[in-house]
Amino acid sequence: RSKSSGRNCFTIYDKAMSAELEARSTLEGDLRDAIARCQLEVHYQPFVDALSGTRRGFEALVRWRHPTRGLIAPDQFIPLAEETGLIVPLGEFVLRRACADAAGWPSDLAVAVNLSPIQFKEAELFEMISAALADSGLPPQRLEIEITESVLLERGVENHAFMERLKSIGIALALDDFGTGYSSLSYLTAFPFDKIKIDKSFIRNLTHQPRSSAIISSIVTLARGLDMSVTAEGVETREEYERLKALGVNFAQGYLFGRPQPIERILFDAPAKSSQRDAA
Ligand code: C2E
Ligand code: MG
Ligand code: MG
Ligand code: MG
Repeated sequence: RSKSSGRNCFTIYDKAMSAELEARSTLEGDLRDAIARCQLEVHYQPFVDALSGTRRGFEALVRWRHPTRGLIAPDQFIPLAEETGLIVPLGEFVLRRACADAAGWPSDLAVAVNLSPIQFKEAELFEMISAALADSGLPPQRLEIEITESVLLERGVENHAFMERLKSIGIALALDDFGTGYSSLSYLTAFPFDKIKIDKSFIRNLTHQPRSSAIISSIVTLARGLDMSVTAEGVETREEYERLKALGVNFAQGYLFGRPQPIERILFDAPAKSSQRDAA
């Protein structure tokens, strides 16, 4: 390697940088178009009552049907959407679609929608959510909002008031991915959650690591004391499910019960109004 290699490195670095920036701005432009052209789809994954195995509702999970790249998972574009502010129209699209779809399901099924921390900074968020409910006719009692701990770190007081407002109209609140972030237990007592969703990384180790059982069982005990329910995410095997039932979790979600699917592929036991939407 010659002494000049440092210089070359810079050149290469610059090129790599601009290629990356270019790719990013292409992706950003594509995402902007995707929102405008309705290339985003909402898929639904069931969650069940752990004891009975009865389906209780579905979580709405966004996907991007890219014209050349195929179906893109949210991890590939949500961060960019958050950096560019596109998460605001994207999030509104998902919420409105989910409420409209759920309004056609049997009335004992709820829909859970993920909200980004960035959306929490929007002044009109409450109005947007109430309008989505009113326009779809979905009773607020059938909507759950999932948020991660990062929302609670900033603007704690304002977010607390906002959460109380959602609850006052009947919307349920879930703390998503519990155990992956700062996981300060004080958040659980300080914010009015109805549900804690234990992150799938804990479920993965369940059957071979006794420590994971201990963690889950303490979360269950804690949640009971705070009058919250517990969902186990990412349940893939029957053994995991049996173990979680014994540990006392209230709800279970994961590939064992169903993968996220487009609405057309979901079967409902009772005649659902959604068939009217398909026919329309
Ligand atoms: P999340 O809210 O924690 O959603 C659960 C994720 O776990 C989903 O990934 C789901 O497909 C996956 N999953 C479910 N069961 C299993 C299982 O048994 N095994 C494994 N390995 N994975 C399972 P997905 O759909 O790729 O979504 C990833 C994340 O993207 C979501 O995590 C959520 O944080 C975010 N996201 C998805 N849709 C939206 C949205 O509309 N708005 C916002 N702000 N974020 C969203
Ligand atoms: Mg979620
Ligand atoms: Mg989660
Ligand atoms: Mg997640």
